Amino acid sequence: MLNEMLQKDSSLSFEVFPPKKDDEFDNCFKVLDSLSELSPDFISVTYGAGGSRSKKTVEIASYIQNTLKIDAMAHMTCVGSNENDILTVANDLKKEGVSHVLALRGDKPRDMSEEQFAQRIFPHATDLIRFLNSNTSLDVSASCYPEKHPEAISIDSDIAFMKMKQDMGAKMFISQLFFDNADYYRFVERADRAGIVVPIVAGIMPITSAKQIGSTVTLAGSSVPKKLADICARYGESPEDMRQAGIAYAVDQIKDLRKCGMGHIHIYCMNKPKMTAEICRAL
Ligand code: FAD
Repeated sequence: MLNEMLQKDSSLSFEVFPPKKDDEFDNCFKVLDSLSELSPDFISVTYGAGGSRSKKTVEIASYIQNTLKIDAMAHMTCVGSNENDILTVANDLKKEGVSHVLALRGDKPRDMSEEQFAQRIFPHATDLIRFLNSNTSLDVSASCYPEKHPEAISIDSDIAFMKMKQDMGAKMFISQLFFDNADYYRFVERADRAGIVVPIVAGIMPITSAKQIGSTVTLAGSSVPKKLADICARYGESPEDMRQAGIAYAVDQIKDLRKCGMGHIHIYCMNKPKMTAEICRAL
C-alpha cells in the first residue's frame, strides 16, 4: 500500500482516534463506515501516549484494514513502553494484516513522573524507528513540525532530527497541523535543503468551533493567523456559521497546497464524517 502511495503525486487520508469509553465503539465503527465512502488512500488511528489502550488502536486499525478494505496506519508511541511492549503491539498489528505504523515518541502521560520520563527506554521517535526497522517488517513513517516541535531548540535542529528519522528508515512524514500555508512552504523548502527526499504529507485540521482553537493551539503549538482569528471572533457565537467558515478555511488551505504541488493531504477529521464529507465535496 505505502509503496503505491509513494509513487503518486497526491493522496487524501484521514486520522481518527479510538473512543475513550468501550460503549462508544459501535459509533466509532459507524464513523469509519461513513469515512470509507470517501475512498481515502489510508486512515490512521491514534494511540494513547502511555500505551495502555494500544489494543483499541489495533482493533480499529484492523476494522479499517479487514472490514473496510482500506489501508490502515496505526500510530505507535514509545514514551511509556519497553522493547517487549513495542514488539507485542507490532505482532498484534501484523496478525491483523496492518503493516504501516506512524512511529512517535509521545508526550509525557499525566501519571508519569518527571523522573520516569527522563529515564524512558526509547528517548525519541528516532530510537523507535530504528528498533522497528531492525526487529519487525512494518513500514514506518514519522511526524514532522512545520512550526517546529515545541521542545525543539530551533527549526534547524528539529529538521536535523527529521533527517535522522529518514536515515533510520522513515518512509514518509505526516506534519503537525498548521493554519498558515506560508509556514508550511517555508518548512518544506528547508526540509528539502536538509536532504529530506521522502514525501511530506500536510496535516490539516478544520476548526469548526471557536473553543477548539484554544485547545488545539495549546496542544500543537501552532500559530493562528489573523484571518482565522477573525473568523473565530466573528462566528464564534454562531455554531453553524462557525462550522461552515471553518470548513471553508480548511478547503482553501487544501486547494492552495494542491495548486502549489503539495498534493499529499491528511485531514485530522476528529471522527466527524459529515464535516469530512463536506470538505471532500468542496474539493
Ligand atoms: P520526537 O521526534 O522524539 O521529537 C521530540 C523532540 O525531541 C523534538 O523537539 C525533536 O526536535 C527532539 N528530537 C527528536 N529526535 C531526537 C534525538 N534523536 N535526540 C535528541 N532530540 C531529538 N501523540 C500521541 O500520544 N498519540 C498519537 O497518536 C499521536 N499522533 C501524532 C500524529 C502526528 C502527525 C503528529 C505530528 C503528532 C502526533 N502525536 C501523537 C503527538 C506527538 O506524540 C508529540 O508531538 C510528541 O511531543 C513528540 O513526538 P515525536 O514523535 O515527534 O517526538
